[in-house]
Formats: sequence, structure tokens, C-alpha cells
Amino acid sequence: MEATCRQALRVGLRAVAFTEHADFAFRVHADMRPLDVQAYLLEIERCRALFPALRIVSGVELGEPHRHAMETAEVLRAGPLDRVLGSVHCFSWRGREIDASQLKEVPAAETPAAVRAYLAEALALVTSPQPFAALAHLDYYKRYWPHRELTYDEGEFEAELRAILRELSRRGSALEVNTTRGAPAERGLCPGARVLGWWAEEGGRAISFGSDAHEPAFIAAGFREAAQLAEAAGFRANDDPAGHWLR
Ligand SMILES: [Zn+2]
Repeated sequence: MEATCRQALRVGLRAVAFTEHADFAFRVHADMRPLDVQAYLLEIERCRALFPALRIVSGVELGEPHRHAMETAEVLRAGPLDRVLGSVHCFSWRGREIDASQLKEVPAAETPAAVRAYLAEALALVTSPQPFAALAHLDYYKRYWPHRELTYDEGEFEAELRAILRELSRRGSALEVNTTRGAPAERGLCPGARVLGWWAEEGGRAISFGSDAHEPAFIAAGFREAAQLAEAAGFRANDDPAGHWLR
């Protein structure tokens, strides 16, 4: 976290949020460990003292919180965690739980059906009473879509994506533009320009930016392009360097 703060200042950021993963799908990821909120918050405080020029925001990325309500409440109680993201990584496919990264193992012909299962899970999340301020990487599965065998056309999933965006707008949450550590836009920009346009049309007011850096070197990677797309969709930065872009 200290190295990330240093890199954030180096690339000209005025604020950074550490939305640490809190995932509970231990059956899918056997090597995963629970988030130690107290240790995390101590590190946040240590970094705030080291870098007074940088606004350091605490946070968490809740994985499928609607499926793990008790564990989620426990993490949030251990807070304070300022920026709470809701996300879907895992979903049911053919009777078992898989992570979207396992789409690579699904035959290309079945990928669209698996993506619909993912999007149904995301709809269940946004219609749940779970408290989160922004929806992370709406089309996370794009990272693992078999782009070489199958062209990804957002239009094929327009109804599903718009239904999620409509609910997200109704609950007053923000949509995250996740740049996947600066990966090529085809699979890394989650979501892309067309979906951002739908977000505006469905009444979406706010956008947050996430680089999903996981490593200091990738903080804010891909933000320049993401900011251009957000501006093109009518969203603007404001005086708060840690604030959402609004329209
Ligand atoms: Zn995630």
C-alpha cells in the first residue's frame, strides 16, 4: 500500500482508494483468505501519516454480498470502510459455482449462455438490499471472453445490461469504469463506451474509476482513455479529487 501511494503521487493522482477484496466464495477459491479489516485499517492510517499530500480513502470490494449477507455485515461492522463496491466474480453455471475467469474452460459456443448467467447474478446483486456505493466491473467476464474465436457484441446482451443499469440508477449507486490494469480495451475496459452511453440513458448519474491495480505499478493504468469515454458520455470531474464523476 505504501508503494502504491508513492506511485499514485508519481503519476499525479491526488486521491487513491484501496478497495480491498472481501470475497466469500471459498468453495471456488480454496486458497483465499478472509479480509483482516483491522490490519488493513492500520495500514491505511500508516499510509495517511506518510503521505499527507495524498487523500487516502479506505474501502472494500464485496464479492457477491447478496449471497453472503452475514459475512458481509461482519466485514462492514469491522469498518469504517468509506468506499464500498459491490461485485460479481462467481456465479452458478451448469450446477456448479465458477469464477468468470473459468469462462476460458467453457466451450465458445456456450459462452453467451454463461455470460447471461453472470449477468443474472449481477442483477440479483443490484436488486438486493446490500449496501454498496458503486458496482464494480459490470462486464468483468469480457476479460475472459474467447475474443479470438467469438466477437464480443454488447448489443447481444443489451437487455440484460440495461436492466442492471436501470436498477443501479434506481438505487442511486455509481457505475465503476474498471480499466483492468491498463489491458487492451476489448477485454480490459469494463464497461466500454457503448455501455456508458446506456448508463446515461438509464438515468445513471455517477461514475467511479478503478484500475484494479493489485500491484503498485498499475495504479491508474488506462485512466486517460477511460476519462475520455466518460467525458464523451457526459460525465465530468468535480472539485473533490476522491469524488465520483457526475452528469
Ligand atoms: Zn473484482
